[in-house]
Amino acid sequence: MAHQAGDILWDALASNLHFYLPEHPLKPPAANLYILSGLYQARDIEAFIFTFIRTISAHTLRERQKYPEKYDPPNEEDVVLDNDTVNRISRTVYRWRLAAGSNGFGWDKSNEVKLTSQPCLHYTDENRRYTHDVNDPRDRDYDDGFQFNCDCTIPFRERKAHAFLRECRINYCYCFEGVNKGGFFNLEVIKTLLIHGEIDTVLRVCAHPDVKYASWKSVQNCACMEADLGWNHLYSLALDAYIVLNILYCFPKLRGSISGRQPPRSNESYERDYRDTKIYQEMLYKCTKSHYSEVTKHIHRQFFGIKDDYFGNSFKIQRGLEWPILAKTATYPQSPDRPDNQPLFSILRGLRSWRMKAFINDDDFPFGNVPFEIFLNCDEEAPWVPHKLEVAECYRTLRTIGLPDELICEIAELAYGAYGDEPWRRLLVAHDPFHPENYDELVGYLGSCWDIMVRCNIFAEAVGNPINWQSELKLCLRRLFRSPRGDNLDWNGLDTDMEDLIFELIQP
Ligand SMILES: [Zn+2]
Ligand SMILES: [Zn+2]
Repeated sequence: MAHQAGDILWDALASNLHFYLPEHPLKPPAANLYILSGLYQARDIEAFIFTFIRTISAHTLRERQKYPEKYDPPNEEDVVLDNDTVNRISRTVYRWRLAAGSNGFGWDKSNEVKLTSQPCLHYTDENRRYTHDVNDPRDRDYDDGFQFNCDCTIPFRERKAHAFLRECRINYCYCFEGVNKGGFFNLEVIKTLLIHGEIDTVLRVCAHPDVKYASWKSVQNCACMEADLGWNHLYSLALDAYIVLNILYCFPKLRGSISGRQPPRSNESYERDYRDTKIYQEMLYKCTKSHYSEVTKHIHRQFFGIKDDYFGNSFKIQRGLEWPILAKTATYPQSPDRPDNQPLFSILRGLRSWRMKAFINDDDFPFGNVPFEIFLNCDEEAPWVPHKLEVAECYRTLRTIGLPDELICEIAELAYGAYGDEPWRRLLVAHDPFHPENYDELVGYLGSCWDIMVRCNIFAEAVGNPINWQSELKLCLRRLFRSPRGDNLDWNGLDTDMEDLIFELIQP
Protein backbone atom coordinates (compact mmCIF):
# COMPACT_ATOMS: atom_id res chain seq x y z
CA MET A 1 0.00 0.00 0.00
CA ALA A 2 1.24 3.47 -0.83
CA HIS A 3 2.39 5.77 2.00
CA GLN A 4 -0.40 7.92 3.57
CA ALA A 5 -2.81 6.00 1.33
CA GLY A 6 -5.76 6.96 3.52
CA ASP A 7 -5.10 10.66 3.03
CA ILE A 8 -3.46 11.12 -0.37
CA LEU A 9 -5.41 10.00 -3.44
CA TRP A 10 -2.60 8.02 -5.11
CA ASP A 11 -5.14 6.01 -7.07
CA ALA A 12 -6.51 9.15 -8.71
CA LEU A 13 -3.08 9.83 -10.15
CA ALA A 14 -2.23 6.19 -10.88
CA SER A 15 -5.47 5.60 -12.79
CA ASN A 16 -4.38 8.21 -15.34
CA LEU A 17 -0.95 6.73 -15.89
CA HIS A 18 -0.18 4.04 -18.43
CA PHE A 19 2.93 1.92 -18.78
CA TYR A 20 4.46 2.04 -22.26
CA LEU A 21 7.47 0.35 -23.78
CA PRO A 22 9.51 2.01 -26.52
CA GLU A 23 8.32 -0.78 -28.87
CA HIS A 24 4.72 0.51 -28.65
CA PRO A 25 3.40 2.17 -31.87
CA LEU A 26 3.22 5.51 -30.01
CA LYS A 27 7.03 5.32 -29.81
CA PRO A 28 7.56 6.69 -26.33
CA PRO A 29 11.21 7.60 -25.80
CA ALA A 30 11.63 5.18 -22.91
CA ALA A 31 9.87 2.51 -20.86
CA ASN A 32 7.86 4.61 -18.45
CA LEU A 33 4.53 5.62 -16.99
CA TYR A 34 2.88 8.32 -19.07
CA ILE A 35 -0.21 10.46 -18.73
CA LEU A 36 -2.38 10.08 -21.79
CA SER A 37 -5.63 11.81 -22.59
CA GLY A 38 -8.68 10.67 -20.71
CA LEU A 39 -12.00 12.01 -19.57
CA TYR A 40 -11.37 12.85 -15.96
CA GLN A 41 -7.73 13.84 -15.86
CA ALA A 42 -8.09 17.41 -14.69
CA ARG A 43 -10.44 16.34 -11.93
CA ASP A 44 -8.28 13.36 -10.84
CA ILE A 45 -4.95 15.11 -10.85
CA GLU A 46 -6.38 18.11 -9.10
CA ALA A 47 -7.75 15.77 -6.44
CA PHE A 48 -4.35 14.14 -6.01
CA ILE A 49 -2.59 17.50 -5.65
CA PHE A 50 -5.29 18.81 -3.33
CA THR A 51 -5.07 15.83 -0.97
CA PHE A 52 -1.27 15.89 -0.98
CA ILE A 53 -1.21 19.56 0.04
CA ARG A 54 -3.96 19.08 2.61
CA THR A 55 -2.03 16.19 4.20
CA ILE A 56 1.35 17.90 4.30
CA SER A 57 -0.20 21.07 5.69
CA ALA A 58 -1.93 19.14 8.47
CA HIS A 59 1.27 17.25 9.36
CA THR A 60 3.28 20.48 9.31
CA LEU A 61 0.84 22.17 11.68
CA ARG A 62 0.83 19.20 14.03
CA GLU A 63 4.64 19.00 14.07
CA ARG A 64 5.03 22.77 14.55
CA GLN A 65 2.74 22.66 17.57
CA LYS A 66 5.29 20.52 19.42
CA TYR A 67 7.50 23.61 19.75
CA PRO A 68 6.98 27.06 21.32
CA GLU A 69 5.04 29.43 19.14
CA LYS A 70 7.57 32.23 19.65
CA TYR A 71 11.30 32.20 20.41
CA ASP A 72 13.41 35.02 21.80
CA PRO A 73 15.96 36.05 19.17
CA PRO A 74 19.43 34.76 20.15
CA ASN A 75 22.30 37.18 20.71
CA GLU A 76 24.96 36.88 18.04
CA GLU A 77 27.46 35.48 20.55
CA ASP A 78 25.04 32.82 21.87
CA VAL A 79 26.16 29.23 21.28
CA VAL A 80 23.07 27.90 19.50
CA LEU A 81 24.56 24.49 18.72
CA ASP A 82 24.93 23.14 22.26
CA ASN A 83 27.16 20.18 23.11
CA ASP A 84 24.38 17.57 22.85
CA THR A 85 23.25 18.83 19.44
CA VAL A 86 26.85 18.85 18.20
CA ASN A 87 27.28 15.26 19.40
CA ARG A 88 24.15 14.16 17.55
CA ILE A 89 25.01 15.74 14.20
CA SER A 90 28.84 15.54 14.15
CA ARG A 91 29.15 12.22 12.34
CA THR A 92 26.96 13.49 9.48
CA VAL A 93 28.87 16.78 9.23
CA TYR A 94 32.17 14.89 9.30
CA ARG A 95 31.01 12.73 6.37
CA TRP A 96 30.12 15.68 4.13
CA ARG A 97 33.20 17.65 5.08
CA LEU A 98 35.45 14.72 4.18
CA ALA A 99 33.63 14.29 0.86
CA ALA A 100 34.37 17.94 0.01
CA GLY A 101 38.01 16.83 -0.28
CA SER A 102 37.19 14.43 -3.10
CA ASN A 103 34.40 16.28 -4.92
CA GLY A 104 36.40 19.48 -4.97
CA PHE A 105 34.35 21.96 -2.95
CA GLY A 106 36.72 24.68 -1.83
CA TRP A 107 36.61 24.51 1.98
CA ASP A 108 40.02 24.18 3.54
CA LYS A 109 41.03 21.35 5.90
CA SER A 110 38.86 18.76 4.09
CA ASN A 111 41.63 16.24 4.52
CA GLU A 112 42.63 17.21 8.07
CA VAL A 113 39.11 17.32 9.54
CA LYS A 114 38.75 15.17 12.68
CA LEU A 115 35.84 13.56 14.41
CA THR A 116 36.53 14.14 18.10
CA SER A 117 34.70 12.78 21.12
CA GLN A 118 34.31 16.28 22.60
CA PRO A 119 32.67 19.24 20.82
CA CYS A 120 35.09 21.97 19.74
CA LEU A 121 35.88 24.71 22.25
CA HIS A 122 38.72 26.32 20.31
CA TYR A 123 37.91 29.89 21.03
CA THR A 124 38.26 32.59 18.39
CA ASP A 125 36.78 36.04 18.72
CA GLU A 126 35.83 36.22 15.06
CA ASN A 127 32.29 37.32 14.35
CA ARG A 128 32.17 37.45 10.61
CA ARG A 129 29.25 37.15 8.28
CA TYR A 130 31.49 37.10 5.21
CA THR A 131 29.22 39.68 3.65
CA HIS A 132 30.34 42.07 0.99
CA ASP A 133 30.15 45.66 0.02
CA VAL A 134 27.66 45.85 -2.85
CA ASN A 135 29.63 48.71 -4.34
CA ASP A 136 32.81 46.70 -4.55
CA PRO A 137 33.42 46.05 -8.28
CA ARG A 138 34.88 42.65 -7.41
CA ASP A 139 31.82 41.63 -5.44
CA ARG A 140 30.93 38.62 -7.57
CA ASP A 141 34.23 36.89 -7.96
CA TYR A 142 36.52 37.21 -5.00
CA ASP A 143 37.28 34.90 -2.13
CA ASP A 144 35.16 35.47 0.97
CA GLY A 145 38.14 34.56 3.13
CA PHE A 146 36.31 31.81 5.00
CA GLN A 147 38.63 29.28 6.62
CA PHE A 148 38.79 27.02 9.62
CA ASN A 149 41.08 27.73 12.56
CA CYS A 150 41.15 24.14 13.84
CA ASP A 151 40.60 20.60 12.56
CA CYS A 152 37.38 19.98 14.52
CA THR A 153 34.30 18.85 12.58
CA ILE A 154 32.16 21.76 13.80
CA PRO A 155 34.47 24.57 14.96
CA PHE A 156 33.29 26.64 17.93
CA ARG A 157 32.81 29.76 15.80
CA GLU A 158 30.33 27.86 13.62
CA ARG A 159 28.22 26.99 16.67
CA LYS A 160 27.41 30.61 17.47
CA ALA A 161 24.34 32.51 16.27
CA HIS A 162 26.33 34.91 14.08
CA ALA A 163 27.39 32.00 11.82
CA PHE A 164 23.71 31.54 10.97
CA LEU A 165 23.25 35.05 9.61
CA ARG A 166 25.27 34.88 6.39
CA GLU A 167 23.75 36.12 3.19
CA CYS A 168 23.88 34.36 -0.16
CA ARG A 169 25.96 36.41 -2.57
CA ILE A 170 25.33 36.51 -6.29
CA ASN A 171 28.33 35.14 -8.15
CA TYR A 172 29.82 35.01 -11.61
CA CYS A 173 30.16 31.68 -13.40
CA TYR A 174 32.25 29.17 -11.40
CA CYS A 175 32.71 31.64 -8.53
CA PHE A 176 30.08 30.28 -6.14
CA GLU A 177 32.51 28.54 -3.84
CA GLY A 178 34.77 31.57 -3.71
CA VAL A 179 32.18 34.11 -2.69
CA ASN A 180 29.89 31.79 -0.69
CA LYS A 181 32.18 29.37 1.18
CA GLY A 182 31.16 30.65 4.61
CA GLY A 183 27.46 30.92 3.92
CA PHE A 184 27.30 27.56 2.20
CA PHE A 185 29.03 25.83 5.11
CA ASN A 186 26.31 27.12 7.42
CA LEU A 187 23.60 26.18 4.91
CA GLU A 188 24.85 22.59 5.00
CA VAL A 189 24.71 22.71 8.81
CA ILE A 190 21.08 23.85 8.60
CA LYS A 191 20.25 21.02 6.16
CA THR A 192 21.92 18.59 8.57
CA LEU A 193 19.77 19.91 11.44
CA LEU A 194 16.62 19.49 9.33
CA ILE A 195 17.56 15.92 8.38
CA HIS A 196 18.22 15.08 12.03
CA GLY A 197 14.92 16.64 13.12
CA GLU A 198 16.66 19.27 15.31
CA ILE A 199 13.71 21.62 14.80
CA ASP A 200 14.00 23.41 18.15
CA THR A 201 17.49 24.66 17.27
CA VAL A 202 16.39 25.62 13.75
CA LEU A 203 13.42 27.63 15.04
CA ARG A 204 15.54 29.39 17.65
CA VAL A 205 18.02 30.49 15.01
CA CYS A 206 15.23 31.62 12.70
CA ALA A 207 13.88 33.93 15.40
CA HIS A 208 16.81 36.28 14.72
CA PRO A 209 15.62 39.20 12.57
CA ASP A 210 18.76 39.03 10.39
CA VAL A 211 18.61 35.42 9.16
CA LYS A 212 18.96 35.31 5.39
CA TYR A 213 17.73 31.81 4.57
CA ALA A 214 15.04 33.11 2.23
CA SER A 215 17.93 33.97 -0.12
CA TRP A 216 19.37 30.46 0.24
CA LYS A 217 16.28 28.60 -1.00
CA SER A 218 17.18 28.18 -4.66
CA VAL A 219 20.91 28.53 -5.28
CA GLN A 220 23.06 27.56 -8.23
CA ASN A 221 26.75 27.23 -8.85
CA CYS A 222 26.42 29.27 -12.07
CA ALA A 223 23.55 30.99 -13.81
CA CYS A 224 24.09 28.37 -16.53
CA MET A 225 23.65 25.41 -14.16
CA GLU A 226 20.81 23.69 -12.34
CA ALA A 227 19.73 25.37 -9.09
CA ASP A 228 20.58 22.43 -6.85
CA LEU A 229 22.59 23.89 -3.97
CA GLY A 230 19.85 25.62 -1.96
CA TRP A 231 17.66 24.11 0.73
CA ASN A 232 14.90 23.50 -1.83
CA HIS A 233 17.06 20.68 -3.21
CA LEU A 234 16.71 18.83 0.09
CA TYR A 235 12.93 18.56 -0.15
CA SER A 236 12.74 18.27 -3.94
CA LEU A 237 14.89 15.10 -3.95
CA ALA A 238 12.72 13.72 -1.15
CA LEU A 239 9.59 14.62 -3.15
CA ASP A 240 10.86 12.90 -6.30
CA ALA A 241 11.74 9.69 -4.45
CA TYR A 242 8.43 9.80 -2.56
CA ILE A 243 6.25 10.26 -5.67
CA VAL A 244 8.17 7.79 -7.85
CA LEU A 245 8.18 4.92 -5.35
CA ASN A 246 4.59 5.43 -4.25
CA ILE A 247 3.28 5.60 -7.81
CA LEU A 248 5.29 2.61 -9.04
CA TYR A 249 4.02 0.66 -6.07
CA CYS A 250 0.47 1.21 -7.41
CA PHE A 251 1.40 -1.05 -10.39
CA PRO A 252 1.66 -4.59 -8.98
CA LYS A 253 2.52 -6.03 -12.41
CA LEU A 254 5.73 -4.03 -12.40
CA ARG A 255 6.93 -5.33 -9.06
CA GLY A 256 8.79 -8.17 -10.71
CA SER A 257 9.37 -11.72 -9.58
CA ILE A 258 10.19 -12.33 -5.95
CA SER A 259 13.27 -14.38 -6.68
CA GLY A 260 14.91 -11.70 -8.81
CA ARG A 261 16.03 -12.18 -12.38
CA GLN A 262 19.11 -12.90 -14.42
CA PRO A 263 20.48 -9.70 -15.96
CA PRO A 264 19.07 -9.53 -19.51
CA ARG A 265 21.57 -9.82 -22.33
CA SER A 266 21.82 -7.58 -25.33
CA ASN A 267 18.88 -7.38 -27.76
CA GLU A 268 16.85 -10.16 -26.21
CA SER A 269 13.45 -9.08 -25.02
CA TYR A 270 13.07 -9.12 -21.28
CA GLU A 271 10.28 -8.74 -18.80
CA ARG A 272 10.39 -5.15 -17.55
CA ASP A 273 9.90 -4.37 -13.89
CA TYR A 274 9.66 -1.04 -12.07
CA ARG A 275 13.46 -0.65 -11.97
CA ASP A 276 13.58 -0.53 -15.77
CA THR A 277 11.43 2.59 -15.98
CA LYS A 278 12.84 6.01 -16.77
CA ILE A 279 11.42 7.58 -13.61
CA TYR A 280 13.03 4.98 -11.33
CA GLN A 281 16.49 5.04 -12.91
CA GLU A 282 16.61 8.80 -13.21
CA MET A 283 15.36 9.35 -9.66
CA LEU A 284 17.86 6.87 -8.24
CA TYR A 285 20.68 8.56 -10.13
CA LYS A 286 19.68 12.09 -9.09
CA CYS A 287 19.18 11.13 -5.45
CA THR A 288 22.57 9.42 -5.12
CA LYS A 289 25.05 11.13 -7.45
CA SER A 290 27.93 12.92 -5.78
CA HIS A 291 27.41 16.60 -5.42
CA TYR A 292 28.58 19.76 -3.63
CA SER A 293 25.61 19.33 -1.30
CA GLU A 294 26.50 15.80 -0.18
CA VAL A 295 24.26 15.89 2.87
CA THR A 296 21.13 15.91 0.70
CA LYS A 297 22.16 12.48 -0.66
CA HIS A 298 22.97 10.51 2.46
CA ILE A 299 19.62 8.91 3.28
CA HIS A 300 18.98 8.08 -0.38
CA ARG A 301 22.37 6.38 -0.85
CA GLN A 302 21.93 4.31 2.25
CA PHE A 303 18.49 3.16 1.16
CA PHE A 304 19.43 2.36 -2.43
CA GLY A 305 22.79 0.88 -1.41
CA ILE A 306 24.95 3.21 -3.51
CA LYS A 307 28.44 4.21 -2.39
CA ASP A 308 29.17 7.90 -1.77
CA ASP A 309 31.24 8.60 -4.86
CA TYR A 310 29.81 6.04 -7.28
CA PHE A 311 27.69 8.21 -9.60
CA GLY A 312 29.17 11.45 -10.96
CA ASN A 313 28.06 14.12 -13.44
CA SER A 314 28.53 11.85 -16.40
CA PHE A 315 28.45 8.11 -16.93
CA LYS A 316 31.69 6.42 -17.82
CA ILE A 317 30.72 3.52 -20.02
CA GLN A 318 32.98 0.52 -19.75
CA ARG A 319 30.33 -2.18 -19.89
CA GLY A 320 27.03 -2.73 -21.66
CA LEU A 321 28.22 -1.42 -25.03
CA GLU A 322 26.60 -4.47 -26.62
CA TRP A 323 23.33 -2.58 -26.03
CA PRO A 324 22.87 -0.57 -29.26
CA ILE A 325 21.37 2.42 -27.48
CA LEU A 326 24.42 2.75 -25.21
CA ALA A 327 26.86 2.27 -28.07
CA LYS A 328 24.98 4.90 -30.08
CA THR A 329 24.82 7.45 -27.25
CA ALA A 330 28.32 7.03 -25.86
CA THR A 331 30.86 9.52 -27.09
CA TYR A 332 34.62 9.40 -27.17
CA PRO A 333 36.65 12.43 -26.28
CA GLN A 334 38.86 13.63 -29.10
CA SER A 335 42.35 12.48 -28.45
CA PRO A 336 45.54 12.98 -30.45
CA ASP A 337 45.93 9.24 -30.98
CA ARG A 338 42.47 8.85 -32.50
CA PRO A 339 43.03 7.25 -35.89
CA ASP A 340 41.55 8.83 -39.01
CA ASN A 341 40.78 5.38 -40.34
CA GLN A 342 37.15 4.90 -39.23
CA PRO A 343 36.84 1.09 -39.70
CA LEU A 344 40.02 0.65 -37.70
CA PHE A 345 38.67 3.07 -35.13
CA SER A 346 35.54 1.01 -34.61
CA ILE A 347 37.63 -2.10 -34.07
CA LEU A 348 39.82 -0.26 -31.59
CA ARG A 349 36.76 1.03 -29.83
CA GLY A 350 35.81 -2.52 -29.05
CA LEU A 351 39.06 -3.03 -27.17
CA ARG A 352 39.01 -2.57 -23.46
CA SER A 353 41.51 0.27 -23.48
CA TRP A 354 39.25 2.25 -25.82
CA ARG A 355 36.04 1.30 -24.12
CA MET A 356 37.33 2.94 -20.98
CA LYS A 357 37.21 6.29 -22.68
CA ALA A 358 33.50 6.23 -23.61
CA PHE A 359 31.16 8.40 -21.61
CA ILE A 360 27.62 9.77 -21.64
CA ASN A 361 26.55 13.07 -20.08
CA ASP A 362 23.81 12.63 -17.51
CA ASP A 363 21.38 14.68 -19.64
CA ASP A 364 21.84 12.23 -22.51
CA PHE A 365 21.82 8.93 -20.64
CA PRO A 366 19.04 6.69 -22.02
CA PHE A 367 17.24 6.15 -18.71
CA GLY A 368 14.43 3.63 -19.19
CA ASN A 369 16.02 2.17 -22.32
CA VAL A 370 18.38 -0.34 -20.73
CA PRO A 371 17.70 -2.90 -18.02
CA PHE A 372 18.31 -1.77 -14.46
CA GLU A 373 21.40 -3.99 -14.15
CA ILE A 374 23.03 -2.30 -17.16
CA PHE A 375 22.13 1.19 -15.91
CA LEU A 376 23.63 0.38 -12.51
CA ASN A 377 26.83 -1.31 -13.66
CA CYS A 378 27.71 0.39 -16.94
CA ASP A 379 30.91 1.93 -15.58
CA GLU A 380 32.30 -0.77 -13.34
CA GLU A 381 30.34 -3.28 -11.35
CA ALA A 382 28.65 -1.09 -8.71
CA PRO A 383 30.58 -1.60 -5.45
CA TRP A 384 28.78 -3.89 -3.04
CA VAL A 385 27.48 -2.02 -0.01
CA PRO A 386 27.13 -4.61 2.75
CA HIS A 387 24.16 -5.02 5.07
CA LYS A 388 25.00 -5.29 8.77
CA LEU A 389 23.59 -8.84 8.84
CA GLU A 390 25.98 -9.83 6.05
CA VAL A 391 28.91 -8.43 8.01
CA ALA A 392 27.83 -10.29 11.16
CA GLU A 393 27.43 -13.49 9.11
CA CYS A 394 30.96 -13.08 7.75
CA TYR A 395 32.43 -12.78 11.28
CA ARG A 396 30.39 -15.79 12.44
CA THR A 397 31.57 -17.96 9.55
CA LEU A 398 35.19 -17.04 10.12
CA ARG A 399 34.87 -17.88 13.82
CA THR A 400 33.29 -21.29 13.15
CA ILE A 401 36.28 -22.33 11.12
CA GLY A 402 38.40 -21.50 14.14
CA LEU A 403 40.46 -18.55 12.90
CA PRO A 404 42.10 -16.38 15.56
CA ASP A 405 40.48 -13.00 16.19
CA GLU A 406 43.43 -10.98 14.84
CA LEU A 407 43.23 -12.79 11.51
CA ILE A 408 39.45 -12.37 11.37
CA CYS A 409 39.86 -8.63 11.86
CA GLU A 410 42.45 -8.50 9.12
CA ILE A 411 40.19 -10.36 6.68
CA ALA A 412 37.24 -8.13 7.58
CA GLU A 413 39.44 -5.09 7.06
CA LEU A 414 40.31 -6.38 3.58
CA ALA A 415 36.68 -7.13 2.77
CA TYR A 416 35.05 -4.02 4.20
CA GLY A 417 37.94 -1.63 4.84
CA ALA A 418 37.55 0.09 1.49
CA TYR A 419 34.01 0.80 2.52
CA GLY A 420 35.26 3.29 5.10
CA ASP A 421 32.94 4.96 7.55
CA GLU A 422 29.83 4.97 5.41
CA PRO A 423 26.80 3.33 6.96
CA TRP A 424 25.76 -0.14 5.90
CA ARG A 425 23.05 -0.80 3.33
CA ARG A 426 19.47 -0.71 4.63
CA LEU A 427 17.71 -3.11 2.23
CA LEU A 428 17.85 -6.78 3.17
CA VAL A 429 17.61 -7.75 -0.50
CA ALA A 430 19.90 -5.38 -2.38
CA HIS A 431 18.67 -3.22 -5.28
CA ASP A 432 15.02 -4.26 -5.02
CA PRO A 433 13.08 -1.89 -2.73
CA PHE A 434 9.77 -3.61 -3.56
CA HIS A 435 10.97 -7.07 -2.56
CA PRO A 436 8.58 -8.29 0.17
CA GLU A 437 11.49 -8.75 2.59
CA ASN A 438 12.32 -5.06 2.19
CA TYR A 439 8.84 -3.85 3.04
CA ASP A 440 9.67 -2.41 6.49
CA GLU A 441 12.69 -0.54 5.18
CA LEU A 442 10.64 0.81 2.27
CA VAL A 443 8.00 2.14 4.63
CA GLY A 444 10.71 3.62 6.87
CA TYR A 445 12.39 5.34 3.95
CA LEU A 446 9.15 6.81 2.59
CA GLY A 447 8.50 8.07 6.14
CA SER A 448 11.95 9.72 6.20
CA CYS A 449 11.32 11.43 2.85
CA TRP A 450 7.98 12.66 4.14
CA ASP A 451 9.55 13.95 7.38
CA ILE A 452 12.14 15.91 5.41
CA MET A 453 9.37 17.61 3.43
CA VAL A 454 7.41 18.42 6.60
CA ARG A 455 10.50 19.85 8.35
CA CYS A 456 11.45 21.92 5.30
CA ASN A 457 7.87 23.22 5.34
CA ILE A 458 8.25 24.34 8.97
CA PHE A 459 11.61 25.93 8.17
CA ALA A 460 10.25 27.67 5.05
CA GLU A 461 7.45 29.25 7.05
CA ALA A 462 9.87 30.31 9.79
CA VAL A 463 12.13 32.11 7.31
CA GLY A 464 9.21 33.76 5.51
CA ASN A 465 9.58 31.91 2.23
CA PRO A 466 6.80 29.26 2.26
CA ILE A 467 6.93 26.38 -0.19
CA ASN A 468 4.37 26.55 -2.99
CA TRP A 469 3.43 22.86 -3.09
CA GLN A 470 0.97 23.38 -5.92
CA SER A 471 3.76 24.50 -8.20
CA GLU A 472 6.32 21.99 -6.82
CA LEU A 473 3.91 19.12 -7.52
CA LYS A 474 3.02 20.33 -10.99
CA LEU A 475 6.70 20.66 -11.91
CA CYS A 476 7.37 17.21 -10.51
CA LEU A 477 4.49 15.54 -12.40
CA ARG A 478 5.47 17.27 -15.59
CA ARG A 479 9.07 16.14 -15.23
CA LEU A 480 8.17 12.53 -14.46
CA PHE A 481 5.17 11.63 -16.57
CA ARG A 482 4.92 13.90 -19.59
CA SER A 483 3.32 12.42 -22.66
CA PRO A 484 5.53 10.44 -25.03
CA ARG A 485 4.14 12.62 -27.79
CA GLY A 486 4.84 15.92 -26.10
CA ASP A 487 8.57 16.13 -26.53
CA ASN A 488 8.60 19.10 -28.86
CA LEU A 489 6.55 21.27 -26.52
CA ASP A 490 8.04 24.10 -24.51
CA TRP A 491 8.09 22.85 -20.94
CA ASN A 492 9.37 26.05 -19.45
CA GLY A 493 6.04 27.70 -18.67
CA LEU A 494 6.14 27.34 -14.90
CA ASP A 495 3.04 29.15 -13.78
CA THR A 496 0.40 27.46 -15.86
CA ASP A 497 -2.86 26.61 -14.17
CA MET A 498 -4.25 23.12 -13.92
CA GLU A 499 -5.90 23.07 -17.35
CA ASP A 500 -2.66 24.09 -18.96
CA LEU A 501 -0.79 21.38 -17.10
CA ILE A 502 -3.16 18.71 -18.36
CA PHE A 503 -3.06 20.17 -21.83
CA GLU A 504 0.72 20.07 -21.84
CA LEU A 505 0.87 16.57 -20.47
CA ILE A 506 -1.40 15.07 -23.10
CA GLN A 507 -0.80 17.30 -26.11
CA PRO A 508 0.56 15.37 -29.07
ZN1 LIG B 1 38.25 23.06 17.31
ZN1 LIG C 1 28.14 29.34 -15.69
